[in-house]
Amino acid sequence: MIREPSRPAGDTYDWFRRARTLHDEGNPAAAAELLAHAAQQEPAARSVREAWARALYDSKRYEQAAQEFLQLVEQAPDDHYAHFGAGMSLWRLQRFTAASEHLTMAAAMRPARTEYVQARQQVRATLAARAEAGMPLDGPLTAGVTADPPAAVPEPAPSRDDGADAAAPVLTAQALHRTYDTALLDLDGVVYRGEHPVRHAVSCIRAARSAGMRTAYVTNNASRTPEQVAQALRGMGLELSDADVVTSAQAGARLVADRVEGGARVLAVGGPGVAAALQECGLRPVAAGADEELDVAAVMMGFGREVSWQHLAAASYAVAAGALFVATNTDLTYPSARGIAPGNGTLVAAVVHATGREPLVAGKPHEPLLHYSVDRTAAARPLVVGDRLDTDIEAAHGIDAASLLVLTGVTDVPTLLHARPEHRPTYLAADLRGLLARGRTLRTDSAAQVGDDGRLRLAGPTEPADPLRRLRAAAAACWAHADTGGAPALPDDVRAELEADVRLALEH
Ligand SMILES: [Mg+2]
Repeated sequence: MIREPSRPAGDTYDWFRRARTLHDEGNPAAAAELLAHAAQQEPAARSVREAWARALYDSKRYEQAAQEFLQLVEQAPDDHYAHFGAGMSLWRLQRFTAASEHLTMAAAMRPARTEYVQARQQVRATLAARAEAGMPLDGPLTAGVTADPPAAVPEPAPSRDDGADAAAPVLTAQALHRTYDTALLDLDGVVYRGEHPVRHAVSCIRAARSAGMRTAYVTNNASRTPEQVAQALRGMGLELSDADVVTSAQAGARLVADRVEGGARVLAVGGPGVAAALQECGLRPVAAGADEELDVAAVMMGFGREVSWQHLAAASYAVAAGALFVATNTDLTYPSARGIAPGNGTLVAAVVHATGREPLVAGKPHEPLLHYSVDRTAAARPLVVGDRLDTDIEAAHGIDAASLLVLTGVTDVPTLLHARPEHRPTYLAADLRGLLARGRTLRTDSAAQVGDDGRLRLAGPTEPADPLRRLRAAAAACWAHADTGGAPALPDDVRAELEADVRLALEH
C-alpha cells in the first residue's frame, strides 16, 4: 500500500503558527515543511505563501524560493515584498540582471526600506564589476573574481542605472481601483480645491466605487464635523455616508480615549469638529472659559477660526499642569481665499513654546489618522491618495501603504524631483483618472537621465499618449542620483518642459 506523505496534526492556522515559531527558533527547514502543507491547503493565502517562500530562502533552497516569490509577483505585481524576495533569491542563484530588476521594483515601491535599497545597490555594483571585468553579467563566476562585490567597487553612476534592464515604466497588472480595495482620499487638492471639485474627481470616484472599491475621505482639517464635510461632498455630486469621512479630530479623540478614563473632561480648543469628536468617543469636552477648564485630563487642539489668546492660554495652563496634550494635526498654514493663514500647527506651536511640552499628533504625516482610517474601512490593501509629499505620502510610508500622488494640489515639479525617500510616492498621475488606470511606478527609464555633470536631461519629446512619462523618469533619475550622495540640478529649460508635460496631462 502506498502511504500518503504524513499530514501534520492541526489546521492551516496551527501549521502557520508553529512554522513561525520554528523559523524564529532557527529551524527554517522544518518551518518550510509545515508551510508547504499550509500553502497547499490554502493557495490563496498570501501571508502563508510569503512565509513559505521566506522559509525556503532561509533554508537555502533558493531555486524553489525564487519560483514561489516569482509566482507571488505574477499574481500581484505591486507586492514590494514579493519583488524583494524574488530579487534576493535570484541574486543567490547568480541571475543578477533579473535580480536587479526585481530589487529595483521593490526599492521604487518602498524607497524608505533601506534593506531594499541596499540590496539593489549591491546587485548593481556586482553587475558593474562584472561588466568591467568583461564577464557575462549572469551565471557562475570564473576564477579570480569574487562573488560578492568588494566594498571598494563604486556604485554605478545613476546615468548608467539599470544598464541592461532599462525598460518602459512598469505598470500594475490591473487598474489601481482593482489592485487596491480601499482608497484613502485626501480632500483639498485631490477631491476639491476650495469650494470647487477638482476636474474629473467626482466622476472617477463614482466609477471606482461602482466597480467595488471602498473610499474614505481622510482629512487633516479638524474644524468641520464629518457630517459637515460629507454634506459639502454631496453638494459636489458624490454619494457617501457621514461615516465615509474620517477627520483628524476623530483620530485625535481616539488617541485621547485610549489614554484617559471614559467620560473624562477634555479641554477642546478648535472648531465644532473637535468637541464633537471627543463626545463621540465618550469623553466630556470642556470649552475654554468654563469653570472646569483647569480640571481636565487632556487638552485637544484642532483648527478653528474662533481660537483666541484666551483659548491658547487655557490650553497652556492645563498642559503645564500635566494634562495629556493631543493635536489633531500640525499643518503650519491654512490656505484661505485671501491667502496663506496660520494653520493649527502654528497655534499648537504657541502652546509648545509656552509650556515646553510636545503634543501627540493624530493627523498626517503622523500615522494615527491613517491607522484609524484603515481600521474604520477594514481595508486589506489600502491606497493612500494625496497631493502633498510631506503629509499624505509620508504618512503612507509610515503605515507601509502604497500611495498615489496627484498633481492637482500643491506639489510642483521641483518638489517632486527633490523628494526625500520618505516623501516618494509609489505611483504618479495627473489627477484622479489615475485611480481608474493601471498604476505607473516611478522608475528609471531612458526618457530622462542625470548626466555625469549632475544635470537632469530629457531624452526625447513629450509622449502624447503618456505625457507624464518624462516626469516619472526624471523623478526616479534625480532620486537615484541623490541616494548616491549627488545633488541633481534641474536646468530651467528642463523644468519648463516638464511643467508643460504636467499641463498637458491635466488637460489631456
Ligand atoms: Mg491636500
